[in-house]
Amino acid sequence: MTVNDCESKGAGMEAGHCVIVGGGHAVAQLTASLRQEGWTGPITLVSAETVLPYHRPPLSKAFLCGNDSDDTLLIRPREFYEKQAIDVRLGVRAQAIDRNARRLTLDDGTTLAWDKLVLATGAQVRRLNAPGESLANVFYLREIADVHALRAAVVPGARAVIVGGGYIGLEVAASLRKSGLEVTVLEAQPRVLQRVTAPEVSAFYTRVHEEEGVRLLTNVAIEAIEGEGRVRSVLLRDGRRLDADLVIVGVGVLPATTLAEQVGLKVDNGIVVNEQARTSDPDIYAIGDCTRHFNPLYARWLRLESVQNANDQARTAALALCGKPEPYRALPWFWSDQFDLKLQIAGLSEGFDDVVMRGDPRQGRSFAAFYYREGRLIAVDAINRPKEFMLSKRFLASQQSADPQRIADESIDIKDCFVL
Ligand code: NAP
Repeated sequence: MTVNDCESKGAGMEAGHCVIVGGGHAVAQLTASLRQEGWTGPITLVSAETVLPYHRPPLSKAFLCGNDSDDTLLIRPREFYEKQAIDVRLGVRAQAIDRNARRLTLDDGTTLAWDKLVLATGAQVRRLNAPGESLANVFYLREIADVHALRAAVVPGARAVIVGGGYIGLEVAASLRKSGLEVTVLEAQPRVLQRVTAPEVSAFYTRVHEEEGVRLLTNVAIEAIEGEGRVRSVLLRDGRRLDADLVIVGVGVLPATTLAEQVGLKVDNGIVVNEQARTSDPDIYAIGDCTRHFNPLYARWLRLESVQNANDQARTAALALCGKPEPYRALPWFWSDQFDLKLQIAGLSEGFDDVVMRGDPRQGRSFAAFYYREGRLIAVDAINRPKEFMLSKRFLASQQSADPQRIADESIDIKDCFVL
């Protein structure tokens, strides 16, 4: 066993060794922000994945059905890490943290000494736990390696059954349809995207997917995935049996908190962090999908699964690590591309008590849904409406509302609908 030779520099915070665990969007941003903000000490990045941090959203879209190389997805090129003197350790997993000795043990037997540790462990897929899920051609989709496994099964005419009508399920359905597969989506809830959108928006997505030839079944439960060696069909609890050449499961993710839990950091549906992205140990930070933080704009604790949060929390952590703390106060935002639909979401609609449509979701492919709670605007889903999205994002971030009657009237310019 070797001990990394980066000595602890005690009080000289900027000269210490910063060790980062993880390899996603948050990590790519953190390495850049640390150097930009003046971290002069060594930085080591430890990732279980064998590829440098890459853009994850294309995995369920163009990258899935094309043959682009992994390098096309890299957030920053290899030379960036070399130039910034980031010691990158790929294909190794962090196994244990010793908080007292400030050591991190890796599964290759190495031990790293750290002054500041950042956990960016992300999330892992929720398993379906159905009989037959280990058959060949049953896939999950979270990492680039999952796409490598999946691509060979993506052939025109193949019958794909997708379990889960969330973002992964619907984006993959659109990608596979475009590649000429027969696609069925199975959703346990009464409607797709139930947790994140209004019924009108779910109905819109159902309509478009059906127009594009996707078969959507809601309120369904999976009894078993069947086949011998390789998947042949999916049996539903109501007795229906769907032929399948491949199955893709997208039933949500769980925050990867094991390392943090092992050493007694505060974990409650995510690693709990303060407004500087610091955990309950002042020398350990956590960023991205694995965390839970208090959002002042919504006055509640949030665990966000998004690129925006990964990037913004990484910037916040870098500032704090470099001795220039600024509180995290970002508006959550998301996007999803399916067929010719560009969905952009500003804010969080959970808990809405009213929704106002700008445009008609029952026809065409462009409208925006404005979500209200107790008379205040809390979120906007904009479909092929970039202007509505941009303005809503800006106004929601400054906690300004919009007049619902004016919102519903398309003859009024969107910029004149916000209440100053
Ligand atoms: P998700 O958005 O949580 O959607 C999963 C859906 O599957 C939910 O509607 C869920 O219902 C349903 N489901 C759960 N168990 C099921 C079962 N046994 N049978 C059928 N349906 C079932 O998760 P995801 O689509 O897997 O996405 C994973 C992560 O990637 C999320 O963090 C997501 O935000 C992220 N992602 C984001 C984007 C984007 O922003 N564009 C795109 C792709 C992925 P319940 O709600 O009842 O569990």
